[in-house]
Amino acid sequence: MPAQIGIDIAIASALLRQGKLVAIPTETVYGLAANGLDLKSVLGIFEAKNRPRFDPLILHVRDIPMAKTLVNEWNDTAQTLAEAFWPGPLTLILPKSDMVPDLVTAGNSTVAIRIPSHPLTLALLQLIEFPLAAPSANPFSYVSPTTAKHVADQLIDRVDYILDGGECTIGIESTILAIEGKTARVLRLGGLSIEAIETVLGQPLLETLHQNSNPQSPGQLDHHYAPRCKLIPLYNKDEPQLSWAELLKKPLFTSGFGLLLFSKQGMGAEEEFYLTKLQVAGKTKVYILDELGDIAKAGANLFSILRLLDSDGCKEVYFFWAPEIGLGRAINDRLMRASS
Ligand code: AMP
Ligand code: MG
Repeated sequence: MPAQIGIDIAIASALLRQGKLVAIPTETVYGLAANGLDLKSVLGIFEAKNRPRFDPLILHVRDIPMAKTLVNEWNDTAQTLAEAFWPGPLTLILPKSDMVPDLVTAGNSTVAIRIPSHPLTLALLQLIEFPLAAPSANPFSYVSPTTAKHVADQLIDRVDYILDGGECTIGIESTILAIEGKTARVLRLGGLSIEAIETVLGQPLLETLHQNSNPQSPGQLDHHYAPRCKLIPLYNKDEPQLSWAELLKKPLFTSGFGLLLFSKQGMGAEEEFYLTKLQVAGKTKVYILDELGDIAKAGANLFSILRLLDSDGCKEVYFFWAPEIGLGRAINDRLMRASS
């Protein structure tokens, strides 16, 4: 029987206690949750997603005391970051305690933990005694879900219940930090900006990003978060943004291509006319992450739009990068992986 979709945390908690899978809303993306301390439940997650066993899971907890039971070491840096940003889109990597099954951490001696910021999921966490292991609720390597419908579209027959918490407000996975004494290393860019973390710590973060075979960030595959269509950057990310005038000179968009814009900022009447012509005459489909160029809104729209490219039947989509600051860096990270 296909899963029910609803807002009943009593049903959700009862299913989780029985070792079942429940999709949960968070501020980042929807998670595919199960009892993170129970081996069979955790196995169910890997099977439902077709997730390779080398890709460790994040444990979602209700509070700092529960987080502390899962680790061997909790230092001042962890405490400062947790107090500043939890509940929120920040995952901390710390040495794991014996309570955490090796399957959760893919055999690593460290474990990933966060408190998600969504009222429904926080209420659910109050009803259960265990942390929730929850990777994104999508088949492995596809775009993460940011609505209950996204989850249902792909996993309705593989989960036992979908808790519908509306649209994810941040829409990009958490920022992952490995705690290294007084400082921290960024393993994945995400929904919390590096600048915000550096402000709280009062020092720059180290970064170890995008390395397929890096043992410090297992599972950070370059090709990830990807729609089926081919995504092609219009210019190199490290170059200045392509000017509208240069875009107009590109002879690309004549036969049913997709064009993904970051915003309409700086566009004049001539460019508007050109875009309309592309859409009407060339059957080019035009997508905009946020018309006014609000980075947070663009981030929240990103995964819905990547799914739309596929459901609209786009085969090739040319795209602009986001500004390389704040959450724009996380947007660009996902665009890079989707296009690699
Ligand atoms: P997600 O698929 O968004 O739930 O994020 C899970 C990601 O967290 C994995 O793909 C890893 O990159 C990262 N992660 C989880 N546990 C660890 C760990 N112990 N050490 C390093 N990275 C981890
Ligand atoms: Mg994922």
